Amino acid sequence: MSVIPEAVNGTKTAHIRVRDVERTFDDGKRVVHALGPLDLDVEEGEFVCIVGPSGCGKSTLLRLMAGLARPSAGEIDIEHHELDRPLMGMVFQDHSVYPWKTVEQNVRFALDLQKKGRPPKSERNERVAHYLGKLGLADFSDALPATLSGGMRQRVSVARALAIEPEILLMDEPFASLDAQLRIILQNELVQLWDSDRRTVVFITHSLEEAIFLGDRVVIMTSRPGTFHSDFVVPFERPRDQSLRGEPEFAQLKEEIWTVLREEVNRHMNQLGLK
Ligand code: ADP
Ligand code: MG
Repeated sequence: MSVIPEAVNGTKTAHIRVRDVERTFDDGKRVVHALGPLDLDVEEGEFVCIVGPSGCGKSTLLRLMAGLARPSAGEIDIEHHELDRPLMGMVFQDHSVYPWKTVEQNVRFALDLQKKGRPPKSERNERVAHYLGKLGLADFSDALPATLSGGMRQRVSVARALAIEPEILLMDEPFASLDAQLRIILQNELVQLWDSDRRTVVFITHSLEEAIFLGDRVVIMTSRPGTFHSDFVVPFERPRDQSLRGEPEFAQLKEEIWTVLREEVNRHMNQLGLK
């Protein structure tokens, strides 16, 4: 019998390791302890969904993972393979798109600029068309963002992140401003895309249903300053489809997670003096 501890013996490498990470904001008037200390491992090829009360530091955490800001303390290590594809793609909460570029230009921008392993032009064209189609934007490829609804702009930023087919996808409430039906359609698309081509995904959402439907694991953060509260493994087999949402086990897990999350949300309301 092997006596080597699992952590040493395991073949998985932690793709993203967050260790004792903290982030504080100081604007000169007040200091906000936004995040941490937080530890979190995201394994290679794992789809991790993060939920937590608003203001607990989820977006801050994602920005730190993306290297867009530095932690005030602690470290984030990203292990990756020397593959011919970009390391990261990110969808921001505010669906930032370039207002002066068309939908098509927005989606192909990062792909055209790609340094490592940039596909030939014909493949780039195909890929852009593919993701525009997947996100229901094919008929709007030459439209400017100002002429689109908020939900459509959000789909442009999702298409842009997917089109570079990165090793790690960081998504900050990407479907939040979509109407309920479209949201379900895009969740179904994303789960299928991910089933066919597994990447490491960190996905922030307010919706437990979305987290359970998409994720391998749902991580709950505490109210601000956000730390790791607990996590739930989502045991449902893949490929997943729409029928999963109607299963009693799905509702049961949602209820279990909500029981835990509710406590943190109440704590957050207390912080705000709302209870
Ligand atoms: P979440 O995404 O979980 O709602 P955020 O990460 O956006 O939370 O914010 C966490 C906390 O940090 C909030 O109190 C927010 O006001 C504060 N915060 C975030 N970014 C900044 C910033 N650039 N300057 C000052 N405070 C910030
Ligand atoms: Mg946020």
